[in-house]
Amino acid sequence: MTEIATLGSHCALQVLKGAKDEGYSTLLVCQRKRERLYRRFPFIDEYMFVDKFSEVIRPENVSAMKDRHAVVVPHGTLVSEVGATEVLNGFDIPIFGSRKLLLWESDRELKEKLMTESGLRTPKAFASPEDIDRLAIVKLHGAKGGQGYFLADSPKTFKEGLAKAKKTGTVGANSRLYIQEYVVGVPVYFEFFQSPLSGELEFHSIDRRYETNVDGFGRLPARMQGSLLPSYVVVGNSPLVVRESLLEDVFKMGEGFVDACARLVPPGMIGPFCIEGVYDENMEFVAFEFSARIVAGTNLYTQGSPYTPFLFDRPMSMGRRIAVEIKEADSTDSLKHVTT
Ligand code: ADP
Repeated sequence: MTEIATLGSHCALQVLKGAKDEGYSTLLVCQRKRERLYRRFPFIDEYMFVDKFSEVIRPENVSAMKDRHAVVVPHGTLVSEVGATEVLNGFDIPIFGSRKLLLWESDRELKEKLMTESGLRTPKAFASPEDIDRLAIVKLHGAKGGQGYFLADSPKTFKEGLAKAKKTGTVGANSRLYIQEYVVGVPVYFEFFQSPLSGELEFHSIDRRYETNVDGFGRLPARMQGSLLPSYVVVGNSPLVVRESLLEDVFKMGEGFVDACARLVPPGMIGPFCIEGVYDENMEFVAFEFSARIVAGTNLYTQGSPYTPFLFDRPMSMGRRIAVEIKEADSTDSLKHVTT
């Protein structure tokens, strides 16, 4: 019997509760320091203890998971703590979703290519700091959750920002930087599920993120803001619905993304993904990111979102939706179509 496993962080509770609701036994890869937290939840059946999450790919841990017929549900912590390349090449266990796409998600150039091929409007990228001619956000490579990002609107303010960021240690001497136009508007995150078994794209939910300390800036008078260095580390998420007239475009974006994944990164998108961006002053959506796996914003919707009742007659979290797909695949001997 298949077991559903995930790392103890990010959206583990939702994933394992959803698995349990679908009748699966559950396994948590748990850091010892978090044992007390997770022991509070009775739907976690088994634990695999590690000191660091990167240990999960050790042969003895992989073989213990194989003995249990584990399918691993990847999330942001697997990407940030183990690394997409290591997951792609050195983690010999079935993963729900496309591990190649996790790699594309982690690489800024590949990410930009896939987004452009999807037909998404993306912010202008600046090849060199000398080219900065408007408000821009300077990012680091890798999913580090917005830490060390800073803003600049000219080569001069870039240099100043970089010096400040280096001084505070958020940007290291060898950090690879990525400079992108900063889009002013309403940041919105759209969460989808692509079912390889039915071939259908499902739109599940929307969230907004509270990021520190940038979401505190609006509470300060403008003249007090100048001396501060913004950071974009997510603290939590809040729910959102968009005007119904925007939904048609939301589906178009999702479909464009799924098509591009199938063309560029076969076998394409499997399961949950998220398109992340900003509605600008013309109500046009500019996408700055995607995640090719479940995002923590779906933690809002353990009982379903404002949109999931249109598709399902029972409470449907993203975690549960994953388990439903695994169950369907299990019962038709097609696990290979939903795992890589
Ligand atoms: P990470 O993937 O490391 O979490 P993101 O690229 O999602 O980083 O960016 C973190 C935050 O920075 C976003 O949630 C958003 O608030 C802000 N941000 C990123 N890119 C842009 C952009 N082009 N325009 C406006 N805000 C942006």
